[in-house]
Amino acid sequence: MDHRAIDIFGWIRAGSAARGDLQLAAMPRLASLLAADTGTLAWEARGWLEQGHGGDAALMLQVRASARPMLSCSNCLEPVAADLVVDRTLRIVADEASAARLDEQEPEIDVIAGSRRFDLLELIEDEAILALPPLARHAQCAAPGQWDDADDDVANGPSGSLAALASLRKGGPGGVQ
Ligand SMILES: [Zn+2]
Repeated sequence: MDHRAIDIFGWIRAGSAARGDLQLAAMPRLASLLAADTGTLAWEARGWLEQGHGGDAALMLQVRASARPMLSCSNCLEPVAADLVVDRTLRIVADEASAARLDEQEPEIDVIAGSRRFDLLELIEDEAILALPPLARHAQCAAPGQWDDADDDVANGPSGSLAALASLRKGGPGGVQ
C-alpha cells in the first residue's frame, strides 16, 4: 500500500490501521535538523469514528512513532542520541475551511484537513519534527561548557581539543572567518 496517497476518509471509516519503518534519510525536512540521517523511525497509525454531539461522527486519526536520531550536543556539538516519540491524535475534516472553523470553535482539538490522496508519511514527518527535542546534550559531556563560566576549571582537560573544534565550527576565535 502506498501510504503517500491514501483516501484518508475511507481509510478512517474502515477503521484501518497501518505500521511501518521509515528511513530517516527518506524524510529530508526532518533529516536536515539531525546530526546524521542514519537510522529509522518506527511508526503506526490507526483511524476510527468517534460519535460527536449530534452531528456526523468525527474522523479520528492517531499517529505514533519512535526513533533515536542523532542530534548535535548543545555543549560540544558532537552527535548525541536523542529520544524522539510521537503520539498524537488528530481529527480529520473535509477541507481547510472546515479545519480553520473547527480550530476557532474548539482550539483544544488538533484538526487537519484530509484528502483522497493523503500523504500519511508526510504527516508523520511533520509530527516527528514537532516532537524533536529542542536541545540535546550528552548526559556526561566531556567538553567544557561553551556558555557556562562555571565549567572553566575543566577547560584545560583532555577535551580541550573538542572545545577548540567546536569553536572552529562556530567560526569563533581561531576559526576560519
Ligand atoms: Zn556533548
